Amino acid sequence: MTCPVIELAQQLIKQPSVSPDDKGCQDIMIAHLQAIGFTIERMPFGDTNNFWAYRGTGPTLAFAGHTDVVPAGDESQWEHPPFEPTIRNGMLYGRGAADMKGSLAAMVIAAERFVAAHPNHRGRLAFLITSDEEAKATHGTVKVVEALMSRNERLDYCLIGEPSSQHRLGDMVKNGRRGSLTANLTVHGIQGHVAYPHLADNPIHRALPALQTLVNTHWDDGNEFFPATSMQIANIHAGTGSHNVIPGKMQVQFNFRFSTELTDSQIREQVETILKNHHLNYTIDWILPGQPFLTAKGELVNAVIQAIDQYCGYQPELSTSGGTSDGRFIAQMGAQVIELGPLNATIHKVNESVSAADLQQLSRIYQRVMEQLIQ
Ligand SMILES: [Zn+2]
Repeated sequence: MTCPVIELAQQLIKQPSVSPDDKGCQDIMIAHLQAIGFTIERMPFGDTNNFWAYRGTGPTLAFAGHTDVVPAGDESQWEHPPFEPTIRNGMLYGRGAADMKGSLAAMVIAAERFVAAHPNHRGRLAFLITSDEEAKATHGTVKVVEALMSRNERLDYCLIGEPSSQHRLGDMVKNGRRGSLTANLTVHGIQGHVAYPHLADNPIHRALPALQTLVNTHWDDGNEFFPATSMQIANIHAGTGSHNVIPGKMQVQFNFRFSTELTDSQIREQVETILKNHHLNYTIDWILPGQPFLTAKGELVNAVIQAIDQYCGYQPELSTSGGTSDGRFIAQMGAQVIELGPLNATIHKVNESVSAADLQQLSRIYQRVMEQLIQ
């Protein structure tokens, strides 16, 4: 007899749902959830399929995730075709096996078992699923969260199935993420002949000391949960390509990964003060891909630690490392948010794979979290 978690994971991997195409993955999940009494609300926005599903009333535990995957890349590099799930030596191979169709299968089967054992659970069990997390993420979770907030939907706890584990299942969970803030800076000067510098104004010469000050600035020390805020210059451009022309402008793009010790507006103010102190003639555009969020110790963290300990025999490390995730949107609802999923060693790579036993274990861990919070 095959395991329902693995069977469902294989079914999902078979659909080549490259962002933002869902390719029917959500229909498969919805069929399972509808059969056990979930109310389903499809929430498509633009090119993206999303759904919100719930069962019961009261304090709400939502499972969140994405059905889309990154492209397979050069398929000839794969040992097995990326959209033909294959099990070999206990590993399930296929694009999305670890990020995150395996987790989606584990969640859905956990819900089935939980509902079968506790048909009259006291809290509300919910699912928030999108088909665009990997690409633009503009019509996915962010839009569903907006819609839910506009009608005062309550969300107390949220488990996201992102592959958080490092070396063994459950050794790390994410209880927050750093914020991301990008600056597009243009320093204006006056173009001219390099032989007549007094008739020009070199924006490179003006900008360099200011950039050096930005690079040397100590932004914060981080805190118990976050490393210190870092600023990195990512792109820099000036010059006409000619050796005898002083350029008229210089463009610089830099990005902050910031902790909860700072707000984006504090960073912006500090940057502009530095630019003004250097008497630059500049324009600056700011983009805020994500605010930082943090779930401190509480019911959800405790439930997750207990569940991992029970099935794995060790406790997870809480971490806020990595890039941004959809947790940044869900946290705005005031929910406690944790990311817990399988090993991330092969995500986005060729021959992406996940341990089949880990997925079965993950499903039990998810179920245990349900039992602790809404049984
Ligand atoms: Zn993912």
